Amino acid sequence: MSANRYDKGHAAACQGKSARDVTGREARGPPPGVPLPAGGVPSSMERTILHADMDAFYASVEQRDRPELRGRPVVVGGSPEGRGVVAAASYEARAHGVRSAMPMSRALRLCPQAVRVPPRFDRYGEVSRQVMAVFRAMTPLVEPLSLDEAFLDITARMDVFGGAAAAGRWLKDQVRRATALNVSVGAGTNKTVAKIASDAGKPDGLVVVPPGGERAFLAPMPIRALWGVGPKAEAVLVAAGIRTIGELAEADRGRLDRLIGSRGALLRDLACGIDERPVEPVRARKSVGAETTFARDLADGGELRAALARLAEEVGVRLREKRLRARTVVLKLRYANFRTVTRRTTRAEPTDDTEVIRQAASALLDGIVGPGERFRLLGVQCGQLAGHAEESQLRLWPRGT
Ligand SMILES: [Mg+2]
Repeated sequence: MSANRYDKGHAAACQGKSARDVTGREARGPPPGVPLPAGGVPSSMERTILHADMDAFYASVEQRDRPELRGRPVVVGGSPEGRGVVAAASYEARAHGVRSAMPMSRALRLCPQAVRVPPRFDRYGEVSRQVMAVFRAMTPLVEPLSLDEAFLDITARMDVFGGAAAAGRWLKDQVRRATALNVSVGAGTNKTVAKIASDAGKPDGLVVVPPGGERAFLAPMPIRALWGVGPKAEAVLVAAGIRTIGELAEADRGRLDRLIGSRGALLRDLACGIDERPVEPVRARKSVGAETTFARDLADGGELRAALARLAEEVGVRLREKRLRARTVVLKLRYANFRTVTRRTTRAEPTDDTEVIRQAASALLDGIVGPGERFRLLGVQCGQLAGHAEESQLRLWPRGT
């Protein structure tokens, strides 16, 4: 409510990487046990939301664990002979054009001196738990999006931290202290702004968008930075001359409806910096899933099956991390023409075992694929979840930490 919850560093912090030069007040940790206001945060209060996202997470963990890899281009993923794809690339590799989801063979052509490292998902899961513990030391209102990324609603913590920039700095320091890894942080009054801000500052960024500055911050960004703008919507909008979020914000409503249908109104709101979605920490989790969109459409074969194995591994790690077991395995497959099919199988015994999940998903895949068909997306989802009986009390987030 007070307009000056943001400290003086904020105007500068809005200029992208210069945020690192913002000194502001020295970040302080929250005293333990600071409670949230009774009944939660009033919705009328202007919010402060952080989006925290580890830099090149898998590759950074490898460089941390193996000092000989530091400063060198590192590409995490399956072997080129096995038609593996890039799961993560260090910034040294990205400088050569290597990107996630790229075939490993292409990555190694672009950057022959790169060191390829097979992924160790259990290790990344361990580090993820440390990172999430730091996030939850800041506020119980943490909504993880993946192993290395989360939203934090720190509205009720602003007085304790002394402003969004100081809060972001505290978070970065604590993550580095706990893991020796860098996290990029974006801060703003809603999820859309915070997420785009964290991306804008990478690597090792801290970008704070002050209240009222949302629209100006978003305007120059490409539309694909917005949630809900996939490659298809992007192509349609760009063909219509709408390339930036600012152009989307100013687009005629009827014209948007004609171009992209009912989503148009929502996307235009987001483009205008309007996003009321709450940070949702306590979500009765109905499923755990992972999916991947391929850099190019794939037919059935080694690359598709390797992607399936990786997704099963990611889902398995997340189930084990959350102490959950699943009874159903769902396979999602999107054809080159965007038609999407799902197939499900139910097991008598719930599982969190990667190999069991992979075999179940692979059998479902066998039942779908036909000769000559190509696919753009593959997903694996586990549902009908049960907690491990002895640890079921951990399924609720700790309160008032
Ligand atoms: Mg990340």
